[in-house]
Amino acid sequence: MTDASNIQTIKVLSKTTWTDSLFSFTTTRPQGFKFTAGQFVRLGVNPSQLRHHQSSNTDGTDDDKHSLDEEIFRAYSIVSSPYEDELEFFSVVIPDGAFTSQLQFLQVEDEVLLNSQPF
Ligand SMILES: Cc1cc2nc3c(=O)[nH]c(=O)nc-3n(C[C@H](O)[C@H](O)[C@H](O)COP(=O)(O)OP(=O)(O)OC[C@H]3O[C@@H](n4cnc5c(N)ncnc54)[C@H](O)[C@@H]3O)c2cc1C
Repeated sequence: MTDASNIQTIKVLSKTTWTDSLFSFTTTRPQGFKFTAGQFVRLGVNPSQLRHHQSSNTDGTDDDKHSLDEEIFRAYSIVSSPYEDELEFFSVVIPDGAFTSQLQFLQVEDEVLLNSQPF
């Protein structure tokens, strides 16, 4: 269950593709967002708002399993330090995974949703 009051938008600042199935990315850090080393948050994407969809799905078709307007959230460990100004995440790519099959196409300036309740 996602508490809408905790949802904030963060912006992708950089992305590094390490292998076909592993990438990392940094994002802005919302003011006042505090966490402890080792905690995880829930990240969300709305596929229709990712740049690769805006540019590639010109015929309006949706070949994904999820609706393009459906927000998908998954747990992600924060790998950056609590003292850094940016947040950093590492992600595997699961073939046909609902979330990572979208997340792998992240580009700088894309927006990602952050449930700012850390666990
Ligand atoms: C506390 C916590 C922290 C997490 N931190 C991270 C993180 O830092 N980075 C990260 O990439 N992921 C992390 N995960 C996993 C992440 O939340 C997603 O489950 C993962 O990204 C796959 O989501 P998906 O929607 O693409 O796949 P789904 O559509 O949920 O799954 C598709 C299929 O792939 C299988 N599957 C799911 N994950 C894996 C996997 N890792 N290896 C093999 N098969 C799998 C599922 O069982 C299912 O059969 C974390 C999970 C938890 C619970």
